[in-house]
Amino acid sequence: MKQKQIKKFDQLKHCGIKHTLNKRKIVKNISNYNLTQDEEDLLSLGMNFAVSSQKIPKVEIIASTESTARKLNKEDGQQLRTGVALILQKSKPPKSNISKKQHTALTNLKRNKNIVILPADKGNATVVMDRCEYKMKMKKLLDDEYTYKQLPNDPTTKIENKITKALKSIEEKKLISKEQRLKLAPQHSTPPQIYGLPKIHKENVPLRPIVSAINSPTHPLAKFLVKIIGPVTGKTNSYIKNSTHFMEKINSPAINSKDTMISFDVVSLFTKVPMKEVIPILKMILEQDDSLEDRTAITPGELCNLVELCVKSTYFCFEETFYEQKEGASMGSPLSPILANIYMERLEEEAIKNFPLKPSLWCRYVDDVFALWPHDNESIQDFKLHLNKQNKHIQFTTEEENENKIAFLDVQIERKNNKFITSIFRKKTHTDKYLNYKSNHHPRILSGVVKCLTDRAKKLCHPSEIEQELKHLKEVFLANGYPEQTINSNIKSKRNSTTNNSTKAQDETIKYLVIPYVKGISEKIEHVCRSLNIETVFTSTPTLKKHLMKVKTPREKSKIKGVVYEIPCMDCSMVYIGETRRTLDKRLKEHQYAVKRHDEKNGIAVHAWNSNHKVNWLEAKVKERVENYTRRRITEAVVIQSLPSTSNLDNGLELNPTWQPIIASL
Ligand SMILES: [Zn+2]
Repeated sequence: MKQKQIKKFDQLKHCGIKHTLNKRKIVKNISNYNLTQDEEDLLSLGMNFAVSSQKIPKVEIIASTESTARKLNKEDGQQLRTGVALILQKSKPPKSNISKKQHTALTNLKRNKNIVILPADKGNATVVMDRCEYKMKMKKLLDDEYTYKQLPNDPTTKIENKITKALKSIEEKKLISKEQRLKLAPQHSTPPQIYGLPKIHKENVPLRPIVSAINSPTHPLAKFLVKIIGPVTGKTNSYIKNSTHFMEKINSPAINSKDTMISFDVVSLFTKVPMKEVIPILKMILEQDDSLEDRTAITPGELCNLVELCVKSTYFCFEETFYEQKEGASMGSPLSPILANIYMERLEEEAIKNFPLKPSLWCRYVDDVFALWPHDNESIQDFKLHLNKQNKHIQFTTEEENENKIAFLDVQIERKNNKFITSIFRKKTHTDKYLNYKSNHHPRILSGVVKCLTDRAKKLCHPSEIEQELKHLKEVFLANGYPEQTINSNIKSKRNSTTNNSTKAQDETIKYLVIPYVKGISEKIEHVCRSLNIETVFTSTPTLKKHLMKVKTPREKSKIKGVVYEIPCMDCSMVYIGETRRTLDKRLKEHQYAVKRHDEKNGIAVHAWNSNHKVNWLEAKVKERVENYTRRRITEAVVIQSLPSTSNLDNGLELNPTWQPIIASL
């Protein structure tokens, strides 16, 4: 009887009754707004949850397929077109992966201007805050006069000009080619933007500042410099690449597990790194680097000038106000981790050299240090004081082992019988929230999540701890909606594999098809591609983060480069479809000029003058953003040919007739 009950209970467990995540922990609402049940349910799916699209993105799929087909031989190309066209003709839009009520909740949350929705700094929680509180906390952060200074205006153009000038000068010295210069010279850049992610594990929920600098004027140059100067760091004994690398260090036979474990953490390292000191160190290292010539013709002196130019142009905007970061390596620049490393390598070397007692192990991941101290407890305090005397702005916080335990990165280390017993470390605020199984992602990505965490368990856990971790993972995946079968088979495959799954090197000869993921349809297209030796890559539909996290000022679509656009007529239903590699704003000016001077080669001008109609310039809009030239021309042609009539003078690129029935039904 009792046996039966246990069995029943086990069954219930597997139906998901026990395996539910704590919604209150995942959705941290610290605002004054009361979330409805549907809103909370939606948010508890996690910020990375991709909402499936209601329509099949046929234009995108055709443009992608056609541009891949053109790279194949005639026969294969036609087979690809026919295969994809057949799938598109038969397909029905996929079922939504969220309920009707959740769709309504999504719309309402998007409209609510009084709150901000953000991922927490760590632990995969979703935080809801009052917008005014968020703004106040950001302002308070930016009020720190040691670190930031308000600027009277937007310096973007000024910085663009400075960089262009510097690049021209090194081109004249024949240190870079003209092509390189054109690639690195900033154009239409946008100012970096600062936002904050809430640290929910700390009292009063402070924000961690993050700067997004992707389209900033220094970004292309900074990325170029990273490739050249990156290899000079990471050569010290202290350097660790990641947690796996750390495991190798502490499992070395030379390590004595009787020593006291300590961790050090530099307080806001990036904003404190003294650039005046780092640049000369960098120059010296580059001068001693024999392999530099293999990477670039640019001299160490010139390289340092360029690095300085990038790191001194550290500005960003918050809402309408511009700020400059006065000291340190700029947040968001890909150069910053390298410069911080160079400085820390020097600082730790000096500090350890000048102290009579030495740690038996010292390993550092950027600003986090794990050390083993073989001396008495009193000397630890002296060593801490000594460390903090190196530079009064670089201050270390320390933590000593507690009950033989300490955490470092995502590893929990315990000293037990003269051995290190390691397991996965999770903060109390960790939600166990991972990509939900219903998210609109390819099944390969979803099983990838299981494999990746299994792999981490294998690499970081002591053999005695692995079972416990895998048991935890199983429960967590069930709670995130994964079928038991999927969990077990992926854990099993990863546990038994001895080889590392090396990422495939980008092979020029492999043909790719990049399409948005649509459940049911993408798999069929993938099947067609496989028979033709084409690799399929799936882009994700917008996630909840994309839909809801509105803390940056969105880039105006008319300022985005590489678009297909539409310009309507004021007096009839005719539209003009065009494409440009530049921005719509720039292209509009040319069209306006063409209309003014009766340009007979311009479709808008011809229609306006022949019919005596006005152009509706204000309603001109971007239809699609397509960076690749061929894909953009194909997209333009598909859009033109899907409309009953346009004011275009021709139909654009000639399209393969296979697409006609689909285009006609768009
Ligand atoms: Zn008209």
